[in-house]
Amino acid sequence: MLSLHNKVSEVTNFFGKTNPVDLVKEFGSPLYVYNENIFRERCSELKNLLTYPHFSVNYSVKANGNLSLIKIARDEGLSVDAMSPGEIYVELKAGFKPEQILYISNNVSKEEMQFAIDHGILTSVDSLSQLEMFGQINEGGRVCVRFNPGVGAGHHEKVVTGGKKTKFGVDPNFVPQVKALLAKYKLRLVGINQHIGSLFMEGGHYVEGVQSVLRLAEQFENLEFVDMGGGFGIPYHKQAGQKRLDLKELATQLDQVLFDWTKRYGKQITFKIEPGRYVVAESGSLLGTAHAIKENYGMKYVGTDLGFNVLKRPVLYDSHHDVEIYRESNRPSTHTEVVNIVGNICESGDIIAKERELPEIFEGDIINVLDAGAYGYCMASNYNNRLRPAEVLITSSGEAKLIRRRDTFEDLIRNFEE
Ligand SMILES: *Cc1c(COP(=O)(O)O)cnc(C)c1O
Repeated sequence: MLSLHNKVSEVTNFFGKTNPVDLVKEFGSPLYVYNENIFRERCSELKNLLTYPHFSVNYSVKANGNLSLIKIARDEGLSVDAMSPGEIYVELKAGFKPEQILYISNNVSKEEMQFAIDHGILTSVDSLSQLEMFGQINEGGRVCVRFNPGVGAGHHEKVVTGGKKTKFGVDPNFVPQVKALLAKYKLRLVGINQHIGSLFMEGGHYVEGVQSVLRLAEQFENLEFVDMGGGFGIPYHKQAGQKRLDLKELATQLDQVLFDWTKRYGKQITFKIEPGRYVVAESGSLLGTAHAIKENYGMKYVGTDLGFNVLKRPVLYDSHHDVEIYRESNRPSTHTEVVNIVGNICESGDIIAKERELPEIFEGDIINVLDAGAYGYCMASNYNNRLRPAEVLITSSGEAKLIRRRDTFEDLIRNFEE
């Protein structure tokens, strides 16, 4: 196999004892591939982030809910967040105990709320209206409230979830109303949480967000925890030398803030974070195949099976993913050229990598879309009646293990009624 442009996966020994060409032959193309060592490393990095003693990492499984991966996260000592009853269901299947799950609900029905209550899972509510609903069905219960302290951050407008122009959380001006509802239904507020947005690369914004949620927390007595949110970023531009988020510096700042605050509060409560992307993005790669090369009006297009049905981020958020290229034959590429790597979906926006300078690509080459572990498979769809790909884990011993089979044609008609 010829590896053109493969520095990132080479450094991490991403493919272990196997290689991308053989993986695609065995499991089909496109294919999601995860590396267990990298996944475990990210889990333990976060688990050991702080010196503050009461700290827990809730993996936000919406980033990647593969059962095998969340079992590994459990093995690494992480807890989990759930955004829906479906996520709760899968997390319980993975062996998480109800007390290890925090249900961060958003505009849910009574039935969905009841589902969490029936399973003994703590729920965080997102509005006064939902706090009232919770009180009506679970008077005297324990509850958490998500606040929106008016600070937001993120890599794209669509993922900024805090701040004055988003749908999330309770406006802190309504603290008196929150207190009134807690009293009315004899609810015990055990925690508050926030999530200001996704993909911060500097710790400063996060710490600011934490400080504002802590100011809010002071208005409530007897909290058991404050959940500071997720959003820890990863460098998507590794080939251009982008630096990693400085976790050490962030940890130093956070530790200071938390120790100081708990002294004032008078109780060493638990602090939680809820990272999704940071845990899983870099442990995932998406392999695809170049099937057609052409030039249209002066632009070179590499046509692949990597449509936005498989990886939606570039189309949804204009996201950048680095790509690598591998070739089964030893035929070299003699020059580089600027290309658009596109998918096979009938929409002109179906571009996975825009205007990239890459070694000349031939039909049959394998394209590796890096850092595709988060918000990859979970956003994949059957659009155009395409089959969602298989998922494979490169285990710690370097072997490939199938952890989700590829869709079949029968899957496409499974739910039809006639
Ligand atoms: C999406 C989400 C997360 C995880 O975000 P990442 O950017 O993947 O870390 C955490 N908490 C909440 C409430 C979310 O909606």
